[in-house]
Amino acid sequence: MIQLEGITKSFGSLQVLKGIDLEINSGEVVSIVGPSGAGKTTLLQIMGTLDDPDAGTVSIDGTNLSRMKQKELSAFRNKHIGFVFQFHQLLPEFTAIENIMIPAFIAGVSNREALTRASEILDFMGLKERASHKPNELSGGEKQRVAVARALINNPAVILADEPSGSLDSHNKEELHQLFFDLRNKFGQTFVIVTHDESLSKITDRTVHMIDGMIQY
Ligand code: ADP
Repeated sequence: MIQLEGITKSFGSLQVLKGIDLEINSGEVVSIVGPSGAGKTTLLQIMGTLDDPDAGTVSIDGTNLSRMKQKELSAFRNKHIGFVFQFHQLLPEFTAIENIMIPAFIAGVSNREALTRASEILDFMGLKERASHKPNELSGGEKQRVAVARALINNPAVILADEPSGSLDSHNKEELHQLFFDLRNKFGQTFVIVTHDESLSKITDRTVHMIDGMIQY
């Protein structure tokens, strides 16, 4: 589902990625674990086409993204990739369900269809009664689950999550990790989760260890 070949990236004189080759299969839940500064976020950003590598290729679902123009790339991203960040980044003036529907509107989905999809996901997550609450009326765990629902609304093949449980307590953290598995089992997405938290590696299908811009085998 995701293929990275020979990815390198430098910021000024600092080489952050030193030649990354990685394949992730469809439906896999993979964690990328490593200390702060290892290059995990940079790698995830490149995987998600939010940043360009200096060299190397990124393919998702058989499409080589390296040669795409910005406009094509952003359409591809909105349709095929969902993002979850450490801080939920929900818009405070909108309700939970409105936040979830935003990427669907951007993709040109009708209001009715977006509402149906968002309701189904909220229902699956047990958050139906929270649909009309604004972010400041939700708990930390609920906010992060709404952010996951928003990432899922366009039914992307891939979900990329950067320290998604980084701001949660241990109970909410476990719930969120379990949710990723439940979602994979129901909707079949591929999940890539970047974290410095070694405990996550116990529950993912596969753990990729990164140190100093390289993958450790
Ligand atoms: P991790 O996610 O493993 O903590 P990052 O990918 O965030 O690692 O960062 C790797 C290194 O690259 C760090 O030293 C960081 O300071 C540096 N870095 C990341 N993004 C930028 C940027 N936009 N400009 C300059 N340096 C950056």
